[in-house]
Amino acid sequence: MTARKRTNLDFQEEQQQQEPAKPKIFEQPCKAHGCPCMVWCGQLAQGLNVCEFHEGIEGKYFPEVTASLLQYKDLIELAENLQRDWKLIDDYNSTIKHPHVVQTLTDYFCSIGIPDLSPQTNIPSCQVDGKTYYRDESAYDLANRIKKWVKNHVIKAEMYPNSEESQKNKKIEEISPMTAYINQLKQRSIQRQRDVEDYF
Ligand SMILES: [Zn+2]
Repeated sequence: MTARKRTNLDFQEEQQQQEPAKPKIFEQPCKAHGCPCMVWCGQLAQGLNVCEFHEGIEGKYFPEVTASLLQYKDLIELAENLQRDWKLIDDYNSTIKHPHVVQTLTDYFCSIGIPDLSPQTNIPSCQVDGKTYYRDESAYDLANRIKKWVKNHVIKAEMYPNSEESQKNKKIEEISPMTAYINQLKQRSIQRQRDVEDYF
């Protein structure tokens, strides 16, 4: 019996048999309990398991952040879709429909009381031969502006550990190991004096 020479194809088939195709994970829900946000592949690749809003926040503030995020769930979803849903992005970029789409978004933001989030239009972009060209805010930039707005309304500076604000409300002993240590020594010496007084 003559053995057939192994080909690349054989090798590929063996590999496929050995490794059952694992579904690739491109997104995961944020690990903060009840958070409505997703963690995307780029963030997962960086080893993050919480969303961009929870990232870096001190654990004790997680529930507070989650509660606020739930309040802005629609805005977060809209921002995500403006960056990921190609059907919507193409619609936004379409020459014919763009003005209508901008108007629809503007009406929406006005109706929910945040007119500032309306798409920015006629932004001077560049000058060619002395003529200024204007452009409208891209769907991507609008989404980032929405996320920034949400972040500003949800996250407070003191929620970040070691931020200046998080230190402000703490007693000096909590942030200064030397002060805490010396205070302990002081306590000990007072106690010792008392013990001596009690003895006599
Ligand atoms: Zn989250």
